[in-house]
Amino acid sequence: MLSRRVRTFKRHLNTNDAYNAFISKPSSVSPGVDGRILSHLTYTLKDNFMNSDSTTCASKLLSNFKSPYSATAASLIDENGGQFRGKNNMDEFGMGSSNTNSYYGAATNPKYEDGDRIAGGSSGGSAAAVSAGVVNFSLGTDTGGSVRLPASYCGVIGFKPSYGRISRWGVVAYAQSLDTVGILARDMDTVEKVYGVLNRHDEKDPTSLPAGIRDMLQSVEEAVDPGAGEGLTIGIPQEFLVKELSPQNRECWLNAVERLQDMGHTIKRISIPSIKSSLSAYYTIATAEAASNLSRYDGLRYGFSQEAPEDVDLDTVSALIAKNRSLGFGPEVQKRILLGNYTLSSDSGNHYLKATQVRKQLVHEFNGIFKSPNFLTNSLDAQEDGCDVLISPTSVGDTPTIEEFLRNDADNFLNSYANDLLTIPASLAGLPAISIPWGNQSIQIMSQFGNEHILFRASRYLLN
Ligand code: GLN
Repeated sequence: MLSRRVRTFKRHLNTNDAYNAFISKPSSVSPGVDGRILSHLTYTLKDNFMNSDSTTCASKLLSNFKSPYSATAASLIDENGGQFRGKNNMDEFGMGSSNTNSYYGAATNPKYEDGDRIAGGSSGGSAAAVSAGVVNFSLGTDTGGSVRLPASYCGVIGFKPSYGRISRWGVVAYAQSLDTVGILARDMDTVEKVYGVLNRHDEKDPTSLPAGIRDMLQSVEEAVDPGAGEGLTIGIPQEFLVKELSPQNRECWLNAVERLQDMGHTIKRISIPSIKSSLSAYYTIATAEAASNLSRYDGLRYGFSQEAPEDVDLDTVSALIAKNRSLGFGPEVQKRILLGNYTLSSDSGNHYLKATQVRKQLVHEFNGIFKSPNFLTNSLDAQEDGCDVLISPTSVGDTPTIEEFLRNDADNFLNSYANDLLTIPASLAGLPAISIPWGNQSIQIMSQFGNEHILFRASRYLLN
């Protein structure tokens, strides 16, 4: 199985293909210089954003699918002059942390000469395209770390905003209570410019934050802002010091903390005990939502089908659906559908409920350590001695080769899930988070819900 999957990757690998980062490549368009805010920037989309191109989610099941409409995020980029360059490879339906779970083969990492290291996932193609300099930025999705982790492995910036900031309308759902649209780029100016375009209410997305809430978030943000150039209070959550963390990644974290301290910021050791239960809570909630979302793919109305729909005998329709799904979905997606349906069944007892309780407790604990109140769940009292941001590494170890990654996964699939240990807490709590390159590794910065402003400022302190 292992060698077969590596071969699949090699067959698809083609150096003209920018590290197998692309699923589709429309012909080039010259950048326009028409005064629109993004008109000098080229971009790609992870292949789970609908637009006029095909949208496959790197799945055989959607390999022939063309959407009749475009995602709000894609339309906003186009309206503001962004130059579309193609759709990016990804883990099938966003499930994975290595981009090896793709019907089109793995994406490889341009940062490494040897050409056989993972790009990270699930937005691996997006990170590879940005890292290789093929485009200025790419949109990915981050449900549990899928923008931050590949950004970390490929040496670029990967930002996910607070849940509800950027419209998810027209983006294929994986786990809708966690899914966010994220931005990958090589510099903060581009990240902030693109975010400025996308950060708005969309009436088509019921989870998009309404304008009134955005205004209130901004006033809370301003009220607790220590002021540009003033020292920040930076929290170091001790629960991120996991046993899986490599000595290099621990060293990198320490180094960033020392650098911030030298700049005059206040460093505070803090504790968020529920971080320890986050991984299991995430995989319970995410698979339950995924099983329910993916039940719509039957291959009858659209997508891959064994037989032409007009030939379908109604007596055998459920057998045909089962066949379409068994042949159309890859092994990781099938595993998650099984896990999710089990969680949602009465046989599983109260796993789902427990996971939602962990999530609630986690939000409560994050609220207890930030200076800024959580407008959605708290009173509006600021905590004077609270933290402005938290920092941790983004990934637990070095970038593995594709072969190493698959071997570890074959030993125990939980090894792959452990890659998400450091990114999942912010996702579960809906917090904004960013991964920025630091030395040869990367640092993750997190802030309170709705407080992207301070996240960007802290990132610039480290990047400048
Ligand atoms: N690796 C995580 C998962 O497979 C996160 C994926 C994501 O953020 N889309 O669920």
